[in-house]
Amino acid sequence: MKTLEELVRPNILSLKPYSSARDEYSGKEAHVFLDANENPYNQPFNRYPDPLQRDLKAMIEKVKQVPASCIFLGNGSDEAIDLAYRCFTRPGIDNVVAIEPTYGMYKVCADINDVEYRPVLLDEHFQISAEKLLAACDDNTKIIWICSPNNPTGNNINREEITKVLEQFEGIVIIDEAYSDFSQEKPFRLELRNYKNLIVLNTFSKAWGCAAIRLGMAFAHPEIINIYNKVKYPYNVNLLTQQKAMEALKEPYETDKVIRILLQERARLISAFRDLPICEGIYPTDANFFLAKMTDAQKIYDYLVNKGIIVRNRTRISLCNNCLRITIGTKTENAELLSALRQY
Ligand SMILES: *Cc1c(COP(=O)(O)O)cnc(C)c1O
Repeated sequence: MKTLEELVRPNILSLKPYSSARDEYSGKEAHVFLDANENPYNQPFNRYPDPLQRDLKAMIEKVKQVPASCIFLGNGSDEAIDLAYRCFTRPGIDNVVAIEPTYGMYKVCADINDVEYRPVLLDEHFQISAEKLLAACDDNTKIIWICSPNNPTGNNINREEITKVLEQFEGIVIIDEAYSDFSQEKPFRLELRNYKNLIVLNTFSKAWGCAAIRLGMAFAHPEIINIYNKVKYPYNVNLLTQQKAMEALKEPYETDKVIRILLQERARLISAFRDLPICEGIYPTDANFFLAKMTDAQKIYDYLVNKGIIVRNRTRISLCNNCLRITIGTKTENAELLSALRQY
């Protein structure tokens, strides 16, 4: 791999970050805080939150088994995705490589940052070959994006191929494991110490049921985390979000319970879909959704909308012709979807 000095944008490498009042004094012993021009009234919301979210990271360290020094927290995974471009890619010069189809934000953020996005088509099993991904790279390729389990396809990407990419690519490999809580596969976040060029993304939006609080995680070598911290907004995760996340982390077994229920429902829903005459096949899934090949995705989608049931129409995505992406809902919601489809 190239050195971080070679991979980080020169202006970011030399950046002297904003130093907030909370950065300059972060101890807890003091009791008179007259340093941040805050209002002394309206406790506790009058105070700026911890810019590095230390209490929250201490809890995440235990649940995710990643040292706090290897954790970045942001306003959703969205922030961690955008920061990857702002830290590593020079607009108009550098490029990134990604699997195709995959999560749409990698390309949107590339476009916003004026960075060339090079999609590499998956095979008919929605798998990659490391060789093909690496062949799409040149000297200005700074990032390879891999989403596993992948969205919208639902499947895990082949572990040996990912490992080859991690070992052979000279730049940063970002593995988005937003759905890994639903999978039996060993997550790559537990392999951080083997790869200095690896960033793993996780989120509170899926298994943790907290999409509204906007909390995303990036796990990486502490040197990468330090670069992220230099570039992020000083108080990027607000106090309400930090508190709510800590509440959820106190009861991880509640999340485990919900995951088990959703996986049972997934099996039930998939087998019912297989019996629908309008369903031509279900792709293998390791996530809380599945991709279903239908006779006519657009017509079925419109029909469901009319009934107040919204699924994701992916028919115009590469390799997903006539596919609907179905998120697993509650028992009642899934039953309503099935009953509507049986009447189609
Ligand atoms: C849903 C999803 C996320 C979550 O993004 P947040 O900004 O954390 O809500 C991240 N990656 C993928 C692939 C997703 O499908």
